Amino acid sequence: MIEEEVNGDIAGVGTLYYEGHDNLYLNITNRCSANCIFCIRDISDGIYGYDLRLKKEPSIDEILDKLGSLDLNKYREVVFTGFGEPTIRFDVVLEVTNWLKERGMKVRLDTNGHAQLLHPERNVISELKEAGLDEVSVSLNAESKEIYDKLCQPALKNAYEAMLEFTKEAVKAGIESRMTVVGFNDVDILKCEKIAHDMGAAFHVR
Ligand code: SF4
Repeated sequence: MIEEEVNGDIAGVGTLYYEGHDNLYLNITNRCSANCIFCIRDISDGIYGYDLRLKKEPSIDEILDKLGSLDLNKYREVVFTGFGEPTIRFDVVLEVTNWLKERGMKVRLDTNGHAQLLHPERNVISELKEAGLDEVSVSLNAESKEIYDKLCQPALKNAYEAMLEFTKEAVKAGIESRMTVVGFNDVDILKCEKIAHDMGAAFHVR
């Protein structure tokens, strides 16, 4: 039950959504399967003036209630992002994506690409495709596993390989795909760009 709403705030939960670049960004978890040394969670409470530290994770009902109260048509797309890895709550991502697609919205998932490792019993890409996901933006972050492991400190083994495979499968499934790196890290941007393009994904320095 939503008690009080201020912008994207739900009382007892925190900031479920925020706006930027004509998009609506969803913040559904603060948990993550990595611990990147550049993660803004370590240096800030949020972005664009929004406090993204959740007091508790919003339930599916709270998310859909909130989204249902918005004029979604004013946004270019709805993006799963936030202060954590959305696919940790994979069923929530699927259900909300479905709901948004029924309302004609474009939906993007910003992800570290660990979903298949997190849910080995599932076929994550085909489930995302089936839910109607339009686009994935995958954090490549480094040109090699060694550098990736140092920068991202993943909790799971073979996270770099899993992230590459996730992207490859997304491209294969026809989900618009891009890979990103953080510009200020000491990584080889050109090599990263080649990895993305060789996989058929677009590339973006963030
Ligand atoms: S994957 Fe994203 S949310 Fe997770 S630690 Fe890295 S930068 Fe932070």
